[in-house]
Amino acid sequence: MADFRYPPDCEELRAEVRAWVATAMDGADAHADPHDLTGLAEPYERALHRQAGERGWLAMGGLRQSIFDFEVARADAPVIDTAMTLAGSVITLFASDIQRRQVLARMHNGEVEVSIAYTEPGAGSDLTAVATTARADGDGWVLDGVKSLITGPHKADLACVIAVTDPEVAPRRGMTMFLVPMDAPGVSVVRTPTMNGWDLGEIHLDGARLAADAVLGEVGNGWRQMALAIGAERSGVFLNGFARHALDLLVEHVRGAVRDGQPLADDPVVVDQVGRLEAAWADAERLSRRALWAATTEGVEPEPAIGSMAKVVSSELQQDIARTAVELVGPEALTWGPLFGGGPSDGPADRGRFAYEVLERVHPTIGAGASEVQRDAIATLGLRLPRRTV
Ligand SMILES: Cc1cc2nc3c(=O)[nH]c(=O)nc-3n(C[C@H](O)[C@H](O)[C@H](O)COP(=O)(O)OP(=O)(O)OC[C@H]3O[C@@H](n4cnc5c(N)ncnc54)[C@H](O)[C@@H]3O)c2cc1C
Repeated sequence: MADFRYPPDCEELRAEVRAWVATAMDGADAHADPHDLTGLAEPYERALHRQAGERGWLAMGGLRQSIFDFEVARADAPVIDTAMTLAGSVITLFASDIQRRQVLARMHNGEVEVSIAYTEPGAGSDLTAVATTARADGDGWVLDGVKSLITGPHKADLACVIAVTDPEVAPRRGMTMFLVPMDAPGVSVVRTPTMNGWDLGEIHLDGARLAADAVLGEVGNGWRQMALAIGAERSGVFLNGFARHALDLLVEHVRGAVRDGQPLADDPVVVDQVGRLEAAWADAERLSRRALWAATTEGVEPEPAIGSMAKVVSSELQQDIARTAVELVGPEALTWGPLFGGGPSDGPADRGRFAYEVLERVHPTIGAGASEVQRDAIATLGLRLPRRTV
């Protein structure tokens, strides 16, 4: 009979991470920074990264990594943002020996933060339209262009930038990746606010001069590298951690709240909705686990659309939970509050958490491949339907 449990060593790790993150996040409200995606100030975030790095938790890969990601997401801990979660896979796959020593090892320790910088004002879903250029100059490179909608560049040490190095060939063969030091001459960051009050950033590259060893992987191989690394991001595991947390908060509210003199938990519509979300969460979790297993287990027949399916299901579930929570909780859920530092709380509904969730869970269906694009991939790669010609 199939065994759906995690192996005992994974459950031990889960217990360790859960205990650590509970202690590490105790008092987090005193370090609030609503302009940061994590809701917390950079020094506090870096301290947590270092603690996790010292425990060897930032570069585990596979099932163990997914357990760490899930647990920290569930605790709102500022560990899923830059560094290993975003840039880890591409740097692990393609770093040179020197980059492994100088960058990757320090990412593992939580000392170096890296942003991913692919998107541009004219190139989002269709990254063949990337216009940033890198030209060879002496024994280095000069980069020009703008990267937009980038997560965390204001606090990153490096950005993993994709740029056109050969405009004469098809974009998929003419791009190269670079590890750009954020303090290099010609590199600047402009912060742009999101609807939830925190900032994304633009990275402006104005004749930014880089050394030859800033190339990540091979010259001309940037597109392939990007495709391989983005695939690894799409198991949906940490999205399920955020979803679990929001659903737990909703259930906690339903358990304790009274409306019109009646416990909310006596309302059959409320119970029906909460039960529906719990079943949907279990579905998403199984699908993510299957995607992760397929991506990390040698000899498994490739399922080309499984990552896309997991990403669509997990990201859309987050929106479903957020919207349903607001409907079930009622008017008090319409007041927005910051993730941290919002003052004492009597329960999940009174600090604006559910309104925050509604706004915050919009972007997971856009970033790392929008749902519409993922569904196309499911149809063409998974079901082998013909690609649209328009
Ligand atoms: C919060 C957030 C964080 C982000 N962080 C990063 C980051 O760290 N690094 C980075 O490089 N980028 C990042 N991005 C950018 C993100 O990857 C892009 O937003 C995404 O690729 C979509 O591109 P776009 O915004 O230009 O939308 P567009 O590509 O213009 O798409 C607009 C709409 O058209 C639809 N669409 C586009 N093409 C098709 C198609 N072929 N078929 C059907 N529908 C289509 C899309 O699904 C979408 O609904 C982030 C974005 C957000 C919102």
